[in-house]
Amino acid sequence: MNLFEKSFASLFYRHVCEIIRCRCHIFCFFILLLAGVSVPVSATDLNSNGSSSTSVENQLSAEEATETAVVKPSASIHISKDSVTVKKGKKYQIKYTYTNTSKKNIIWTSSNSKIVKVNSKGKITVKGGGKVIITARIKGTDIQDQIVVKAKNYYKMRFKTTGYCNGRYCCGKWAGHRTASGKYPKANHTIAVDKRVIKLGTKVKIGNTVYTAEDTGVRGRVIDVYYRSHKQASRHGVQWVTAKVYY
Ligand SMILES: [Zn+2]
Repeated sequence: MNLFEKSFASLFYRHVCEIIRCRCHIFCFFILLLAGVSVPVSATDLNSNGSSSTSVENQLSAEEATETAVVKPSASIHISKDSVTVKKGKKYQIKYTYTNTSKKNIIWTSSNSKIVKVNSKGKITVKGGGKVIITARIKGTDIQDQIVVKAKNYYKMRFKTTGYCNGRYCCGKWAGHRTASGKYPKANHTIAVDKRVIKLGTKVKIGNTVYTAEDTGVRGRVIDVYYRSHKQASRHGVQWVTAKVYY
């Protein structure tokens, strides 16, 4: 039924039927048939035009409408952390949870795959330094979550290293005190540096141990490695090492 016919039928029902006070529309129906107009038979055909239709028809069309509008339960993805720090050359599996979808429907992308590569399972490989956003998106939707990967690069530098402890032989009046960063020193963790060469808080890898620059008191390209006892510190002696300084 085209628009013209629809409005014609609607007007006809409304006005002619009201004039002759015919509530069954049988008279109007035959007049319309004679006029060659296809007759509206359901409430939806006339709906907004205000034609009276039976209440049963109205109920049926309402039920049909709710059936077609059944809402699919929505999928979700959640990455457990907002950010992670990973060193160059290392791999890291991003931890995440999801609902109403499957692992293979999750698409992983990197904002800079030259620095951080991500595979189809959310495992990253760090190839350089910088901040990179990794996005996990559910295929065919805009539903996604993100994580900032702080990719730590490093340079290699030659240092003279010595050992120190927190006792009076090494620290004099500072013995037993906190380090320059305010933290107490820990073995296999704390090193003292020249702040002009290495910033406090920097990770420095010497051999297989990753230290943190937490203390000061040396000058130039010198690293003082913290030991729990003075005996261990003096055993360190003077060693020249090539360290990895992360930035
Ligand atoms: Zn000492």
